[in-house]
Amino acid sequence: MADASEFSVTLLGTGCPNVSPRRYGAGQLVRCGDLTILVDIGAGVTHRLVEAGSNGAEIDALLITHIHSDHLVDLYQFIISSWHQSRDRPQVIYGPPGIKRFVNAQMDAWKEERQLRIEFEKRTSTAGFELEIHEFHASGVLIDRDGAKVSAVRVDHDPIEYAFGFVFEANGKKLVLSGDTRPCDALIDVSQGADVLVHEVFQHGRSREPSGTRTAQSIEQVESYHTLSTDVGDIARKANVGALILTHLVPPDADPAALIEDARQGFSGFIAVGEDLMHIDVARRRVAWRQATVGF
Ligand SMILES: [Zn+2]
Ligand SMILES: [Zn+2]
Repeated sequence: MADASEFSVTLLGTGCPNVSPRRYGAGQLVRCGDLTILVDIGAGVTHRLVEAGSNGAEIDALLITHIHSDHLVDLYQFIISSWHQSRDRPQVIYGPPGIKRFVNAQMDAWKEERQLRIEFEKRTSTAGFELEIHEFHASGVLIDRDGAKVSAVRVDHDPIEYAFGFVFEANGKKLVLSGDTRPCDALIDVSQGADVLVHEVFQHGRSREPSGTRTAQSIEQVESYHTLSTDVGDIARKANVGALILTHLVPPDADPAALIEDARQGFSGFIAVGEDLMHIDVARRRVAWRQATVGF
């Protein structure tokens, strides 16, 4: 069980679908009140979770922002490794409409393989393979217990119909995770006065030169449903947040200094470009990565 005074988020993956050894797929580990929550399960997040000192056995709930593969592709890996990590209670999953069908299809695809493992390994529990799936389709409170409140906020990632960010509140502190979104007023509203806003970002002015199968139009299309680095500072300023942390970098090799320069146009407060395994202590207002720790 978590330390009830702890309130933190660890960035498990700060990348996007474009593979990067430095930036794994989307995932964040949140410790809030007595709850330990995983948000999204992109490529490699199961590995990063262990690197962060946790594992699938201790996760109280998995929250999914939206059904895009870079936020979900490690799902079965997470479920099977949780079982190997001696999980002895059902997985609790919250996600947008369609998540139930998606998760059940994944479980179905691996059904025979799983059955063989269960019969062969003779472990004392298979409860980790039981699923408690909650679908939600609108903004609102999802969890309110053990000193923590978790709410969903519907964001704008059209043509994905249901995309959400999440708000965590405990001990008078607030953390907001944007999920994938273009600039969104609903997100600014719920982020008012947040201690920390973790927001996705798309680097502005990245070369429009077509390369490989990517046309100038495809770059424009992708840019249009994310938030530009030149707009993300305005969002932090309007929401009056204590710290802005950038994640879901598109492209994953975006220059951090350039991202900060762009975001700085709109926001004079604390800005950090997220890195995999960066730990943000919301309660104590500190950011730590590798050997460095800074306060905000
Ligand atoms: Zn994404
Ligand atoms: Zn997306």
